[in-house]
Amino acid sequence: MEHPENDPKYVGLNVNKGISRPPVINPYLKSARKKRGNYSPGEYIEQILKGNIIFLSQAVTLLESRKNEHQSIAREIIEKCLPFSGKSVRIGITGVPGAGKSTSIDAFGTYVIDQRHRKLAVLAIDPSSERSKGSILGDKTRMEELSRNPHAFIRPSPTAGSLGGVARKTRETIILCEAAGFDTVFVETVGVGQSETAVHSMVDFFLLIQISGAGDELQGIKRGIMEMADGIIVNKADGSNIEKANLAAAQYRNALQLFPPPASGWTPRVLTYSGYYQIGISQIWDMIDEYISFVKTNGYFDFRRNSQAKYWMYESINEQLKNHFYQSPKIKKELAIKESKVIHSEISSFQAARQMLEMYFKERD
Ligand code: GDP
Repeated sequence: MEHPENDPKYVGLNVNKGISRPPVINPYLKSARKKRGNYSPGEYIEQILKGNIIFLSQAVTLLESRKNEHQSIAREIIEKCLPFSGKSVRIGITGVPGAGKSTSIDAFGTYVIDQRHRKLAVLAIDPSSERSKGSILGDKTRMEELSRNPHAFIRPSPTAGSLGGVARKTRETIILCEAAGFDTVFVETVGVGQSETAVHSMVDFFLLIQISGAGDELQGIKRGIMEMADGIIVNKADGSNIEKANLAAAQYRNALQLFPPPASGWTPRVLTYSGYYQIGISQIWDMIDEYISFVKTNGYFDFRRNSQAKYWMYESINEQLKNHFYQSPKIKKELAIKESKVIHSEISSFQAARQMLEMYFKERD
């Protein structure tokens, strides 16, 4: 471009020739600028298999999303990661609030990473987490040591939905974590309800944290949960509490004898420890190792994993059938009418249900 200022009559004014824009020096900058969530399933899979935690986290966010387009990407990622999964030891951890789950997971996790050189993912199932704004379980501040450890991946529970939905997402997260190279997975839940069964259906070892004190030792935790446990560990065996913890352990041992022997052929053990003072942690880990090699030898390990895969297939079918049914606009409308008829005894519940299903299946024909 001609610059009139360059005319010799304008002494002292000189416009320099511009330079062209230099190329971007950092070749990664372009891809880093890409908007979050804009990657292809292939890019996610490639990065997850390389152990990229950021991509792993984002993939988990996609699978937790309610948006259809996110879910379809997530499904593809999960399918492709499946062949690289399955190689971790999955441990379910439960106990009533206050039993010391956070403290213990912090201690166990730090121990397995530092002493046994494992890579650990800590996940949670807490169907009530939306009510408490996602923080009773999986909150990083509860596991201070672990959250600073570069070999740990901590992910809070998917936010509320049906228990089945929350549990399925956690199970799918396990697959992604394993594909990313995590060889140990903890799945935490509060020991007060149904979520234990869900956790039990996705882990190899089910660990129940108990505490001593407060009268009847068997109170506060359902008998069914004790029956599912492969190991019971009595926490807070420190200071003046040691004797009480030992007594509680003896009571649990007696109680376990009353249960039918588990299908694994393994006799559940009862140990005492202190999560806070980190006493007895290695013994717990030895027990888990021993269990895993025991069930790998007798074939129960594969049997349990296969039954779980089967269970999740049916769960998934049930969930999708139910959603499909209840989300149909025609069904929704008719349900309201039938509901009122049932309430006013104009039609029996059974007949209303039959008519609804007939209508649904006719629509599909
Ligand atoms: P959670 O609700 O099951 O996650 O339990 P927390 O880990 O939050 O622990 C509940 C309380 O028990 C906290 O005040 C902990 O400091 C305390 N606690 C946990 N583990 C131990 C332990 O090994 N010994 C003692 N004395 N206290 C503990």
